[in-house]
Amino acid sequence: MNRISVAQPKLSGNERKYVLDCLDTNWISSNGKYIGEFEKTFAEFCGVRHAIATNNGTTALHLALVVLGLQPGDEVIIPTVTYIATANAVRYCGATPVLVDVVEGTMNIDPKDIARALTPRTRGIIPVHLYGHPTEMGPVMDIAKKHGLWVLEDAAEAHGAECDGKRVGSIGDMATFSFFGNKIVTTGEGGMVTTNDDALAEKLRLFRGQGMDPKRRYWFPVIGYNYRMTNIQAAIGLAQMETVDLALADRDRLATWYNEALAPLADRIVLPAQASWARQVFWMYNIFLRDGDAHRRDAVMQAMDKEGVETRPVFYPMHVMPPYLEATSYPVADLWAQRGINLPTHQDLTREEVARVARALTQALG
Ligand SMILES: *Cc1c(COP(=O)(O)O)cnc(C)c1O
Repeated sequence: MNRISVAQPKLSGNERKYVLDCLDTNWISSNGKYIGEFEKTFAEFCGVRHAIATNNGTTALHLALVVLGLQPGDEVIIPTVTYIATANAVRYCGATPVLVDVVEGTMNIDPKDIARALTPRTRGIIPVHLYGHPTEMGPVMDIAKKHGLWVLEDAAEAHGAECDGKRVGSIGDMATFSFFGNKIVTTGEGGMVTTNDDALAEKLRLFRGQGMDPKRRYWFPVIGYNYRMTNIQAAIGLAQMETVDLALADRDRLATWYNEALAPLADRIVLPAQASWARQVFWMYNIFLRDGDAHRRDAVMQAMDKEGVETRPVFYPMHVMPPYLEATSYPVADLWAQRGINLPTHQDLTREEVARVARALTQALG
């Protein structure tokens, strides 16, 4: 019986052809035609003026925060349930991530909890479109506007998601994406910053390339970083973007299969739901155990593993992790994060395999 992996990339388009082109033409470093083409294609996909490619999603976040002028002593509001990179990037600037609770179901930042976290040191908000369901951006943008804060969308998990018909990546002042091997679009390792602001875009390019003056080679007016993407990564990314609509459709279909296969378990687990204003993309198809089974999450995952089904726990909240430990209670995060399971979500899963996952889960719940 083959193992069902929780995530895997699909490289069935022009990835191989474009990578070989890089090798054949010697353009393997961070110059070359694929970088500009990938950036242009990605900007169009998001409906945004500028896309600046980086070597991963974490450096994309750090670069965005540097360019937004984040300084030691500043505070940034983030949801407590996220991937650790969101919090770490704030720390790289010497600033403090201030945690906020999340909403049930999507586990995205709760706009109603943001006001409590505001202080005179608050500079911005990083909503995270977790697992592919967009954050409700209207209220977040309103709060930011009222208090003079910037908004940086962490869209690492949500390529193609929409909020009131607008693609994520085009709503905040800036947004970042990841192209790690398990993300919806991959370049192996890779990232992107998007923005509609011409001046911010220029600064992003400056700081990405060690701070070298674009008009005067080897002249460095600022301390920058080497966060450049290679032409090889971009070659894979461009090929991925040629098939991104198919990737999103495959994931939608997979979610439909899961919804059907798991319907009989509706009194034991909570299935994903899409808000009326949202277009979610399924980076991960998540389920949450209900009250009676809540304490058994890890045992359920182990039992599924024995049946050859790999799963992952929903992210632990930042406030329970050693570097960001707090005694504060975040009621929704505390109740739900520990009940969440990511089921296998990738494009090559068959309907039979989805049935197998459902059987393994049913058996594990007992
Ligand atoms: C994957 C991810 C990142 C970081 O991306 P890397 O490419 O792995 O550095 C940041 N934020 C979130 C929410 C992510 O899921």
